[in-house]
Amino acid sequence: MNVLIIEDHAPLAANLVDYLSGVGHIVDAAPDGPTGLRLASGKAFDAIVLDLGLPGLDGIELCRRLRADANHVPILVMTARGELDDRILGLDCGADDYLVKPVKLRELDARLRALVRRSQGRAASSVLRVGDLALDERTMQVTRQGHPLSLTRMDYRILQLLMRESPAIVTRQRLQDEIWGDAPPESDSLRSHVHRVRRVVDQPFARPLIRTVIGVGYRMVDDDAGQD
Ligand code: CA
Repeated sequence: MNVLIIEDHAPLAANLVDYLSGVGHIVDAAPDGPTGLRLASGKAFDAIVLDLGLPGLDGIELCRRLRADANHVPILVMTARGELDDRILGLDCGADDYLVKPVKLRELDARLRALVRRSQGRAASSVLRVGDLALDERTMQVTRQGHPLSLTRMDYRILQLLMRESPAIVTRQRLQDEIWGDAPPESDSLRSHVHRVRRVVDQPFARPLIRTVIGVGYRMVDDDAGQD
């Protein structure tokens, strides 16, 4: 696949180019934000590896501009360890995944391949549905019975994960890993986030969709579909 690497740290960029070329990808690289944006806008890449701290135009802004331009290329953000806000921002701006530096090369390649597979599947339908609840992964719009629902970005991520996996159970551990990464929250944080998601998604409606699986995690099911 065609991969664009936008990274200003030259030795790291060279390392990524070498590795990804070596495993069979066609790789372009940009050393700053404006060059990255120009390349990304000018050619159809299968995936972009994006550093957040970049000269000229930072990664968040670059990502936003691509998405504002209806460019849905899968974007994997690289971020320094512990930059929790940046990670969330990275996903909020329309990025698809992130890796914490130092990046493990094999993992980077695996994640890129997974992202591309996912985006190819999603091109057919970007809307997740459970019962009368719909979540559009491209516009980040959530509606139930046609009414738009408003969620914080963390609550949106939790709902997105539960909907992607529905009707399977998502464990508390997995939710914590995916939402907070290696900076785990205080013990009751997840519980209060799920409580807020329920207040928005379930409470105003007759049929609850989010179930607690005691001691394990959560799952989403639509009763009327006979799944539970
Ligand atoms: Ca940088």
